[in-house]
Amino acid sequence: MNQIYLGLGTNLGQREQNVKNALTGLAHFCTVTAVSPLYETLAWGVTSQPSFLNFCAAAQTNLAPHTLLTQLKQLEKTMGRTPTYRWGPRLIDIDILFYNDLILNDDRLTIPHPQLAERAFVLVPLAHIAASVRHPQTGKSVEEMVTAVDQSSVNYYAPAPWPLEN
Ligand code: ADP
Ligand code: MG
Repeated sequence: MNQIYLGLGTNLGQREQNVKNALTGLAHFCTVTAVSPLYETLAWGVTSQPSFLNFCAAAQTNLAPHTLLTQLKQLEKTMGRTPTYRWGPRLIDIDILFYNDLILNDDRLTIPHPQLAERAFVLVPLAHIAASVRHPQTGKSVEEMVTAVDQSSVNYYAPAPWPLEN
């Protein structure tokens, strides 16, 4: 089994329902073990779009990294994400943050996620479930990384809707 950490974001439609649907979908190919609270984040990169709900999940999976990515992209598609522009609005975005302590970089996949250390909207929720996890390239813990970024645009929104009710 492989320990993975995922970063998720949604800023279109019924955002809280999107969160639940994503967690339901993940359960088809991962065992989710922890979910952070939801944070609301002003849209980054491209402004003038709805604000995001961001959160992170810890999970175990026996899928290899590229197979996992394919499954995550399929889940995004099933949930109705249609391609827009880079950093544009989306029903759901699911990024692989860490996969064990793997370091990988090819044309489909970069692990750890390349913008991890700069993104408060990833680090703030991630610190709830992975404070002591260390970045395999820098050696810094998530707790150390989160204290180094400006957290002012990331606001607590709600507890995670997890475990899911039937
Ligand atoms: P965004 O950069 O906003 O997340 P996408 O979700 O459309 O945009 O991702 C674009 C591409 O990034 C994916 O098709 C995937 O091949 C690639 N990618 C590279 N590394 C990762 C990662 N760690 N997690 C998820 N996608 C990744
Ligand atoms: Mg993505």
